[in-house]
Amino acid sequence: MLVRLMYASRAIPAVDQDELIAIVRKSKSNNPKLGVTGVLCFSEGIFLQALEGGRSAVNQLYNRIAADPRHTQVELLNYSEIGERRFAGWSMGQVNLSRLNPALLLKYSEKPALDPYGVSGAVSMALFEELMATASVVGQP
Ligand code: FAD
Repeated sequence: MLVRLMYASRAIPAVDQDELIAIVRKSKSNNPKLGVTGVLCFSEGIFLQALEGGRSAVNQLYNRIAADPRHTQVELLNYSEIGERRFAGWSMGQVNLSRLNPALLLKYSEKPALDPYGVSGAVSMALFEELMATASVVGQP
């Protein structure tokens, strides 16, 4: 049985570009062994991550990530059983949000900033889907 989980969190101030690269590198090395695929977005100190795979694998990984001291306020936004993967080609894709269109953010939130804490889980998922469609997933799968 496949599930998709999405959460938001706040990076601690020490998380810089090098730390981000280390997280993505670790994910790319661990996730294939777990059969987990997904995407990680990072913008202005906010992480938004989607994980998909077997229910046990996704739950165990989420619990491990939630305990990571490099971020706080880990908040589950969406969890659902799925018929097929959305990110099958990515052990952990990284979305480049530097060219994010403010109009896209305004479509879903009060301000043109990524604020998954201020909107419902369904809205976060809709925003995430649009981010996937409009922003580019960078790096090697
Ligand atoms: P090791 O890398 O050997 O780490 C051992 C322990 O040290 C773990 O408890 C780990 O949390 C901790 N640790 C390692 N590096 C640091 C550091 N720089 N600062 C503080 N503590 C550290 N991991 C995945 O496998 N897949 C993912 O998709 C994934 N996504 C993540 C998304 C975010 C936003 C964050 C913050 C972390 C993510 N991680 C992910 C990392 C995850 O939290 C664990 O650090 C990692 O899975 C542990 O890998 P490991 O078992 O090989 O242990």
